[in-house]
Amino acid sequence: MVSAVSFQKVSRHFGSVKAVDAVDLDIEPGEFFAMLGPSGSGKTTCLRLIAGFEQPTSGAISIFGERAEGVPPYRRNVNTVFQDYALFPHLNVLDNVAYGLMVKGIGRAERLKAAEDTLALVRLPGYGSRMPGQLSGGQRQRVALARALVNRPKVLLLDEPLGALDLKLRENMQEELKLLQKSLGVTFIFVTHDQGEALSMADRVAVFNDGHIMQIGTPHDIYQRPASRFVADFVGSSNVLPPEFVKLHSGQMRWASLRPEAIRVKREQDANGIPADVVALNYLGASTRIALDVNGLRLHAMIPAGQPLPEQGERVTISFNREQIHLMDGEA
Ligand code: ATP
Repeated sequence: MVSAVSFQKVSRHFGSVKAVDAVDLDIEPGEFFAMLGPSGSGKTTCLRLIAGFEQPTSGAISIFGERAEGVPPYRRNVNTVFQDYALFPHLNVLDNVAYGLMVKGIGRAERLKAAEDTLALVRLPGYGSRMPGQLSGGQRQRVALARALVNRPKVLLLDEPLGALDLKLRENMQEELKLLQKSLGVTFIFVTHDQGEALSMADRVAVFNDGHIMQIGTPHDIYQRPASRFVADFVGSSNVLPPEFVKLHSGQMRWASLRPEAIRVKREQDANGIPADVVALNYLGASTRIALDVNGLRLHAMIPAGQPLPEQGERVTISFNREQIHLMDGEA
């Protein structure tokens, strides 16, 4: 099967800055793909390379099997939703959505019909005559989405699409985007530095650092089986265990990770467990995060609401199954 987007050893250097460095990547048609990483790790540059706003210093990019080099952005069958939405303030919603079709020379009646249909798709039917300034942030974001979808691109690029929305709205939009993407079957590629967003929406996630992809996998893989300390640290709130600790509890001399929810905390002393001191409690609603000191090693555990909580300063016993210790590759 031909990939929707394929990178072969793609680099984009700016002087001495290796924004993207020898990246290999294959994104499947119809996939919801997330590019996750800290600020400056090269995600946006990758997106701009796919859109055609940026040219690779070296390497090859293909979009649905066709080489992309030299193909201008408007001929790529790829659209972008920018973080600031970039709506035209002086055009009403319908004309904003229809704009791309006008540029393509589609007749007025046809493009307004397509714009109406697409507004219905993003659940904004009847908003066509409003001006962008009369919309809420969430509505503006839907208009931006409609504008990018109106000419039915094969690939939609989303740069931090939900970054400007408040938490509640963001969660709603995450669900909606995912449903919309699946019903349209369009390949969505989105950039985020929010690991929760990447894990909850994407079919697969690429974790970026320093112009490189550190790991590509399903959210479950990335979360449960981080390939390196960087991924374990960046995705979720894993405990990173030093080799001495791991040797004691699994026999192997390697760095490893252990998810906070894998640690059981008992208030009684128990010779089968490991003694730990409670340093701090952090109430989060559905659970409480507990900072523990184990012989100088700081670990975090997660206790679901409803279970008994220890007190700050209390000596407790922690335990976990050996299988929950995830050894990391190449980190002896
Ligand atoms: P953010 O989450 O902050 O948007 P990012 O992961 O998207 O970050 P990029 O915007 O791709 O990161 O930038 C990667 C690196 O390339 C950064 O060090 C950045 O300063 C550099 N860079 C990006 N564009 C340019 C440019 N036009 N000229 C020079 N350096 C650039």
